[in-house]
Amino acid sequence: MSSVKAGVDTYQMYINGKFVDSLSGKTFPVYDPSTEEVLAHVADGNRQDVDAAVDAARTAFDSGPWSQSTPQARGQVLFRIADIIRKHTPELAELETRNCGKPIVESEYDMADAATCFEYYGGMATKVLGHVNPVPANALSLSMREPIGVAAQIVPWNFPLLMAAWKLAPALAAGCTCVLKPAEQTPLTALRFAAWLEEAGVPPGVVNVVTGFGESAGAPLVCHPQVNKVAFTGSLEVGKKIVKMAADTVKRVTLELGGKSPNIFFADADFEAAIDGALFGVFINQGEVCSAGSRILVEKPIYKKFVDAMVEKTKRIKLGPPMERDTKMGPLVSKEQFDRVLNYMEVGKGEAKLAAGGGRAMNGGKGYFVQPTIFYDVANSARIAREEIFGPVAAVIPFENEAEAIRVANDTPYGLAAAVWSRDIFKAFRLVKALKAGIIWVNHMQPTYVEAPWGGYKQSGFGRELGPWGIEEYLETKQVYINLDEQPIGWY
Ligand code: ADP
Ligand code: MG
Repeated sequence: MSSVKAGVDTYQMYINGKFVDSLSGKTFPVYDPSTEEVLAHVADGNRQDVDAAVDAARTAFDSGPWSQSTPQARGQVLFRIADIIRKHTPELAELETRNCGKPIVESEYDMADAATCFEYYGGMATKVLGHVNPVPANALSLSMREPIGVAAQIVPWNFPLLMAAWKLAPALAAGCTCVLKPAEQTPLTALRFAAWLEEAGVPPGVVNVVTGFGESAGAPLVCHPQVNKVAFTGSLEVGKKIVKMAADTVKRVTLELGGKSPNIFFADADFEAAIDGALFGVFINQGEVCSAGSRILVEKPIYKKFVDAMVEKTKRIKLGPPMERDTKMGPLVSKEQFDRVLNYMEVGKGEAKLAAGGGRAMNGGKGYFVQPTIFYDVANSARIAREEIFGPVAAVIPFENEAEAIRVANDTPYGLAAAVWSRDIFKAFRLVKALKAGIIWVNHMQPTYVEAPWGGYKQSGFGRELGPWGIEEYLETKQVYINLDEQPIGWY
């Protein structure tokens, strides 16, 4: 089979089991955000390429060996994909880090999680069950589960291959075929991964990777009449457009649209663990995390001491070249994101008090590095407390009591995640019930497992990924009525 085109620096798209140029012949550059240098050129897909990919996925679904293969056979292919990711983790992790700037150790975790995700859904392929429905004795009533068809999967740049895995694995387990569109900033690992699909036993057309920009490649994919379902992770702004575009053909849609998640600290929390949890919650992956704990709510008796301790510990965060193993914070993904985050830092300076950071981190003068930044005395109405920044910017907000913590925490259009830190189990569990978010952590923030559901309340989106919920989103339900009564209906 063909693999990535000659040289190391031009990547073609993967359509119908082959690596191909875009039909226009155009490419676009992708960058190493730690050096600002061009890392590769990538095929620039548009509507015509999307049409070719969807045709391939449609044909593979309708006629194909995949949707009609046994669940056991599909499961085994997914196990092989997991093995391949594990075997090639050094290469994939390095490519991920060079393309998106995250520290290499974190990329290695992402690859491990991606492999686990394929393995999990490999096991689930054989556990999709139908029902016998309890109807009167003159009929047998069944519910059957069937794959939904062609899935369009649009992913962001913060966990490029992992977000692709979250979408591909359940879709493939269900028997769907896929057109994946990686983010234009970070398409490289998905393309490298695609080169191993044939070896894993994925037939041509079952997984297609179209590279390109949101407007020119993403939008035609969402609108395509032969696509049955759209799974999107990205910004709220684009999520709203996706729902509107999908309405014309009444596609099934699932959305994960980020958040402005509260990380809530009561005075009785373990103080050292709390400081770590506050910093980890908002600074991991340079803050480019949809569930980032970007609003840090702190109870007044510990507020001052808490902000001081955060500032002190932030000084120890090692910012630097992401390929170095002790680096804890790399550059932001792109110039666009760098400018956006720096702009929010300026906005913050006009709305609140700055305790740490607040600008570019020089790191030799190259790369999109920004300082881990802490604002305090932030009003929950401030822009830096309401808008998702997607960078290492913490907004610390004091609160008086439990009722106020709950009110402020829930006063946001988003509802992806929330965390509460306390040694009082009554209080902590009252918050678990009161917080309006799809993921709640108690005395931690960020870890999640493939076995557990992931997704948001309110404008953080709808539908759930991972766990048994994840595969549900790729299944239709068919009711079957079987008449057991040999008499004519006798109505006429
Ligand atoms: P960000 O602004 O942080 O890059 P986006 O929501 O714009 O986040 O991007 C997430 C994904 O959505 C990317 O793969 C991007 O190409 C895609 N995308 C952006 N705009 C559109 C659009 N109008 N239609 C479909 N996909 C889009
Ligand atoms: Mg965008």
